[in-house]
Amino acid sequence: MIVAKRKPFDEIKELVSDSKKMLILGCGTCVAVCLAGGEKEVAILASQLKMAQALEDQDAQVDQLTIERQCDREFIDEIKDKVNVDEYDLILSTACGAGVQLLSDMFDHKVVVPALNTTFIGVAEGPGIWTERCRSCSDCVLAETGGICPVTMCAKGLMNGPCGGARHGKCEVDPEKDCAWTLIYNRLEQIGRLDRMQRILPPKRYSVQQYPAVVIHEAYKRRYE
Ligand code: SF4
Ligand code: SF4
Repeated sequence: MIVAKRKPFDEIKELVSDSKKMLILGCGTCVAVCLAGGEKEVAILASQLKMAQALEDQDAQVDQLTIERQCDREFIDEIKDKVNVDEYDLILSTACGAGVQLLSDMFDHKVVVPALNTTFIGVAEGPGIWTERCRSCSDCVLAETGGICPVTMCAKGLMNGPCGGARHGKCEVDPEKDCAWTLIYNRLEQIGRLDRMQRILPPKRYSVQQYPAVVIHEAYKRRYE
């Protein structure tokens, strides 16, 4: 899932300071799961903005709506059935960066601003805690590393490790963190694939990463190419 955090309130206030009528638009998928931009967080942000305005004697209208996903045209199209977007001078999106951009594309005559900072692709570890697991490198090596990503988990992004600086299983860059390559060694041992540690992984093929990347499913190639 995509993990994001809400921007500091003062920054959000500044971003919407010109607005007389704004729509706070929530996203009900990843950012709802990480408690940053779902329906509940939109309601809290709307209340905070209204309170701040009341304290400053301002009277901008703040409306709210949450849709299933902002990274999907189908769901953004549904907004038109629920509100008249033309009435708003600004949309404050609580989606990840992808959602904010698709919204800007589809309402290209509107000011769309982000309420969140998109942080990483990660997993939920427990209530209220998420950790980064993937940097979307386009050339996954997890089969060689026991399902632990060296690109993300090793402070130096080493493809062959450990680097020699690990102490008691902790990383030399940050002794609070586990050494990724110690974790990889232990996992490979656990699954009976320790021979993989003898293999030299080639340097990461960063050339396969495209910016901006496009993925077209095989079945749709003829349609788009
Ligand atoms: S190697 Fe790591 S960064 Fe690359 S795709 Fe796999 S999990 Fe993601
Ligand atoms: S100690 Fe381990 S995690 Fe830290 S930089 Fe070296 S190999 Fe990577």
